Formats: sequence, structure tokens, C-alpha cells
Amino acid sequence: SKAKLFDQDQKVKTSFKDVAGLEGAKEEVQEIVDFLKSPDKYTALGGKIPKGALLVGPPGTGKTLLAKAVAGEAGVPFFSLSGSDFVEMFVGVGASRVRDLFKQAQQKSPSIIFIDEIDAIGRSRGKSNITGGNDERENTLNQLLTEMDGFGTDTNVIVIAATNRADVLDKALMRAGRFDRQIYVDLPDLKEREQIFKVHIKPIKLHKDVDISFLSQQTPGFSGADIANLCNEAALIAARKGKKAVHHQDFLDAVDRIVGGLEKKNKIISPKE
Ligand code: ATP
Repeated sequence: SKAKLFDQDQKVKTSFKDVAGLEGAKEEVQEIVDFLKSPDKYTALGGKIPKGALLVGPPGTGKTLLAKAVAGEAGVPFFSLSGSDFVEMFVGVGASRVRDLFKQAQQKSPSIIFIDEIDAIGRSRGKSNITGGNDERENTLNQLLTEMDGFGTDTNVIVIAATNRADVLDKALMRAGRFDRQIYVDLPDLKEREQIFKVHIKPIKLHKDVDISFLSQQTPGFSGADIANLCNEAALIAARKGKKAVHHQDFLDAVDRIVGGLEKKNKIISPKE
């Protein structure tokens, strides 16, 4: 169905303001923003600009958002693709698609390539043989490594990849000059959840009884994506009841619904249905 291999955003609007919490990770990627903004300042002293950074953390914690914000802050084009799409959709042509992607990114450099779910491509080559090797995936991975090694010092393309399974990645990906920087993006703590709520209630008409600090306390273990979803659910619940604004109770009802959903998801050990 989807024929497109990668997305391209030439004018990224996302900025660090859109990413709540994650102060440590933002500080680390600030360096990448600086490289992309003025590469010459760094290479003038003989330094080599890093080629890749790996964002590691649980699903929905803002890895894609953060990568996009790096492009937005630096004012550079953002090329993105998902590792799982890659392996499923491009049987036989994975490697050539990787070549195309890097070629386009170089033409538009400085730029960012973002690879979500890199583990789908970058799973350790040894391990995959246990479940039956996947030559297509390996060819794609090899091409990715080749492209990253092939960058000259004058190619200002930085590849940011995301995974929630850094442990399964092929060690070759982590070698110097590839994804040698790892940045952890964790689930938000109480204070960060409050900051994430503040981002996602912005478009919502709130009743004055809404207590964000209480909601932040009621949502341990929620990711940023869960909180975004929660705010949206609360608005839908209130609308269904014909309310003029979203009340505290609507948020609580949405919490119940989402916690119910998460519990169900965690109970499924083997796919029965
Ligand atoms: P996955 O591993 O599932 O791809 P991810 O870590 O890339 O997830 P995102 O896709 O960036 O997560 O997050 C999904 C959505 O959740 C974002 O578009 C945003 O609306 C919200 N979100 C997640 N984290 C944050 C955050 N730190 N601040 C604000 N919004 C967030």
C-alpha cells in the first residue's frame, strides 16, 4: 500500500519547546544542532563531526519528536524512515533504497536522517541465524554501514536512529564513526509528566477544576505518548457528554480507560486472537 520509502520534511516546525522534560537528552543533542548549524567551526580545528547518534528508550518517550526537534532547531531537512517498514516493504531492494536515501540527504546537506526502530534492520547478524537468517535485512544493514563509513568529513549528514532494544543491535553499528553516541530517553518522572501534560492540554478547553499536578501523580509509568493520548481521550469523553469544557473527571475517566488498555496489552503473552 505505502509505496514511499522515506519521508522528507524540508521545513521542520518542531522545536525543543515541543519536547517536554528530557533535559539531559536535549543537552546531548544540542551538540548535534550546533554541528549542523555551523559545521565549519568544528572542522576548522581538525575535528570530525559525528556521523550518528542512537536514541535508546521505551516506546512513546519522544525519540522521534526529539530527532525532529534537532532538525527544527538546526533548520535542516529531516529524512525519516522506519526500520520495520523497510524490512517488510522493500524485499530485494533494501540496499538500493538506503543508497537513494543517503544520496538525497547528502544533496540537501546539512541534513538529518532519522531511522526509527533501527533494530528491525540492525539486529545482530549472528543472532538472526537462530530464527533463520534474513539476507535481505543483512544486505540492508551492510549498505547502511557502508554509507555511514563512506561519508567524508565534508558530508554534513547526521544519522539519528532510535530503538527500544539496544541490546539486540549488531555491535558493528556502535563502532567508532557510526552510532558511537548513545542517548537515553527514559519514561518521564513526576515533574516531567507534569511538563508533558502542559504541552498537550494547550489545544484543549479546560474547566477550571482540572488539576494537572494530581493527574501527574495518577499516571506513573505513562509515556509521553500515553499522556498525549490521555489528553485527547479526555476531550473526546467530555465532548460525547455534550460538555462545554473538559473537566477533571473526564481526565480521570480517560486514565481508567488507558490503564485498562495498557493492562490488557501486558496480559497478552502469546498472540491468541
Ligand atoms: P516509538 O519508540 O514508539 O517510536 P518514540 O519514542 O519515537 O516512540 P514519539 O513518536 O516521539 O515517541 O512520541 C509520540 C508522541 O507522544 C509525540 O508525537 C508527542 O505527541 C508525545 N510525546 C512523547 N514524548 C513527549 C515529550 N517528552 N514531550 C511532549 N510530547 C511527547
